[in-house]
Amino acid sequence: MTHFDVIVIGGGPAGSTLATLLARKSRSVAVFEKERFPRFHIGESLLPCSVPLFDALGVLPKLDDGRFLRKHAAEFVTGDGSLRQRYVFAEGMIPGTPSAFEVDRGEFDQVLLEHAAEAGARVEQEMQVVRFDCQLARGVEVVVRGPDGAERTHTAECLVDASGQSALLPSRLGLRRMEPGLRNVAVFSHFEGAERYAGLAEGDISIVLVNDGWWWVIPLAGNRTSVGLVGPAKALRGAKPNEDFFLEHVASTPFVRDKVARATRVAPVRALSDWSYKSTALAGDRWLLVGDAGAFIDPVFSTGVQLGMTAAFDAAECLEGALSERRFERARFIPYERRMRRMVDTYTDFVKGFYTPEFGELIMHPSDALGLRAAVTSLLAGHGKKTLGMQLRVALFHALVRMNRSLPLVPRLAERRAAFASRSAPS
Ligand SMILES: Cc1cc2nc3c(=O)[nH]c(=O)nc-3n(C[C@H](O)[C@H](O)[C@H](O)COP(=O)(O)OP(=O)(O)OC[C@H]3O[C@@H](n4cnc5c(N)ncnc54)[C@H](O)[C@@H]3O)c2cc1C
Repeated sequence: MTHFDVIVIGGGPAGSTLATLLARKSRSVAVFEKERFPRFHIGESLLPCSVPLFDALGVLPKLDDGRFLRKHAAEFVTGDGSLRQRYVFAEGMIPGTPSAFEVDRGEFDQVLLEHAAEAGARVEQEMQVVRFDCQLARGVEVVVRGPDGAERTHTAECLVDASGQSALLPSRLGLRRMEPGLRNVAVFSHFEGAERYAGLAEGDISIVLVNDGWWWVIPLAGNRTSVGLVGPAKALRGAKPNEDFFLEHVASTPFVRDKVARATRVAPVRALSDWSYKSTALAGDRWLLVGDAGAFIDPVFSTGVQLGMTAAFDAAECLEGALSERRFERARFIPYERRMRRMVDTYTDFVKGFYTPEFGELIMHPSDALGLRAAVTSLLAGHGKKTLGMQLRVALFHALVRMNRSLPLVPRLAERRAAFASRSAPS
């Protein structure tokens, strides 16, 4: 049995970021990760706001050595490819890093986890957390199981759940709440040799609006492209999101079909449930949640890694204070919970808006008046509502979306509007 200051469950971006930061403060920290890296993970498009975080972690030179493609913009495009709108990060309202990376998550997550070990964290892979107990008076006890089936017990002052969608702690405590209206399914694969843009636009993510959801087309290094469809689970109407389903939908979406027309599929078709959720608490006595363990928002704006890493930075500071003061009750962590909620709520509102036809129409026809387009660009870069100027403009954007419902402010995307209307009609 070993005693640590902090035990982290899960070595994804949120867990490894937190571990690096605590280890650099000379805290004893252990990360238990159930898989052996590199392992497949979805979530390949990163946001510019993550780049200063990589820099602060000291991992940027390892990521920026040419192994990942640079992403300078996000484009929204209709399924037939006839209408496109490109949001260039350098034109955002909040100055900052003008680009991000498109990454193979197996490789990216491994770099981050190895970096945590180099910083001094004890990283144990193929070590699944199977039980834990957090008691304010006594501390935390965690039982891990290795590949040989043997179990070991470790203790700590605090436990951080960074177990991603497994959300171990919220599941056990019954804290997880699904977001009604964001019960989606994702089906995806990788292609080699897909068509891509030239020059600085090569790494653009394309978000393709279709009647029953949206596609991502994410160019990766090595001439690979990740292609995935996200749509409401109920729109499957009994169909299985398998290879046939995926290929049929590729064939019926001209923009995607043309992109991959001369490409070879180089990965199996995978499907995942993509239900957004939040935990009713992000902290308790001796425990904190970071990343997807605390909240998962639909991936349309590629916010997952950014939110997880931002939470890890905030949580690390909060834990450092708690360890110094030796105060581990929930009240000590409430400021962390409030800040995370605000950030998650900003993007949840934006995502919910996206699943209305009027939002898609405004995103395809952004107004340059009052800096609205620049504010949306900054939101897409991951800045959240950092300034009053951003708060006002994001509120105005949502107000325009509501107005556009009854009073057409911009041209209609007729087909998508009809599809949404039939979906929400009583059956
Ligand atoms: C369809 C889809 C598309 C997405 N696209 C994007 C995107 O383009 N950009 C983006 O930023 N985000 C995207 N995301 C979200 C992104 O994948 C997550 O937000 C991100 O990975 C969260 O990081 P994390 O560290 O919290 O969790 P994870 O990366 O999931 O890491 C959690 C780790 O915990 C480990 N673990 C789980 N249980 C245990 C246990 N009992 N013991 C030990 N270890 C355990 C897991 O093996 C895993 O390695 C997407 C998500 C989906 C579903």
